[in-house]
Amino acid sequence: MAKIGWIGLGNMGVPMSTNLVKAGNEVVVWNRTKAKADAVIAEGAAWADSPKAVAEACDFIFTMVADGPALHAATLEAEGVCAGLSAGKVVIDMSTVSVEESAKVNDAIEAAGCKFLRAPVTGSTALATAGTLGILASGDKAAYDKTLPLFEVVGGNQFYLGGGEEARVMKLSLNLMIATTMQMEAEAVVMAEKAGLNVQQVCDIIAGSAVGSPLTQYKAKLIGEGNYAAAFPIRLMIKDLKLALAVGDQYGVKLESTELTKKRMELADSKGYGDMDFSVLTKLLEEESNFSR
Ligand code: NAP
Repeated sequence: MAKIGWIGLGNMGVPMSTNLVKAGNEVVVWNRTKAKADAVIAEGAAWADSPKAVAEACDFIFTMVADGPALHAATLEAEGVCAGLSAGKVVIDMSTVSVEESAKVNDAIEAAGCKFLRAPVTGSTALATAGTLGILASGDKAAYDKTLPLFEVVGGNQFYLGGGEEARVMKLSLNLMIATTMQMEAEAVVMAEKAGLNVQQVCDIIAGSAVGSPLTQYKAKLIGEGNYAAAFPIRLMIKDLKLALAVGDQYGVKLESTELTKKRMELADSKGYGDMDFSVLTKLLEEESNFSR
């Protein structure tokens, strides 16, 4: 049976790797902070002492880390994945990073005679736990076909987008819509609740309306309760919006609502909300509007 490596055990990496273990795979894990591996090790995963050791031991090596610098640290440094590769392996990065950061990793993996799949995901921790994430993949098609049975364990919706960095751009297109939707919801909710409407009813009506979506449905109860525990922390969404704005600049496309939403999120971050969920934009606007529930 193919051995699977998993690097990065944050909010997403833990449930995703756990699903691979639960599906009966042999999984070897590494995380910068070792204690975060306890839960998946308790399910049956093995620990390796470095990303290099994971790559030496495994046929498919997944990475799910915070950002581009983290991906470079996990793959390109002396104890990184690339130092442990031998020809024929597949490395799959599921983090959200830029095209440029991704291409640099691809070059190093290809130089080792291996294939690199870019496979960022849509959906948050609840879908990661349920194994129903959307997977946006690009890279070598034969490597994709080999990896598909594993993707099907972590995700319910599979999309193959092309032979290069296409999945990186698609992920940023999606996230700019997700982020601006939360800014719009904050404006709609705070205006209505300050006018005296019941916040839960407002969120439920939005979720069930023409602008309702899986996102507004999932957030309705949480915003209604003022529960902003991070499913997707605002600091990571700021990172994604910066990446999206850079792509917009590159292609000469104005992303004005994305720019505005990034500013709102940076303001929330400056107030100490960086580790809270990006839906905390509602709380930020309530505070600015002198409204408390
Ligand atoms: P997270 O909870 O913040 O976890 C980040 C992971 O990256 C941790 O394992 C962390 O290790 C590791 N890391 C950070 N810097 C590192 C470095 N320099 N070297 C090695 N490892 C490093 O993030 P997450 O929510 O799991 O998200 C992971 C990726 O998925 C991000 O790119 C995010 O944008 C994307 N994503 C997230 C969601 C979501 O809802 N959360 C949804 C879709 C996509 P430590 O444990 O040692 O800190």
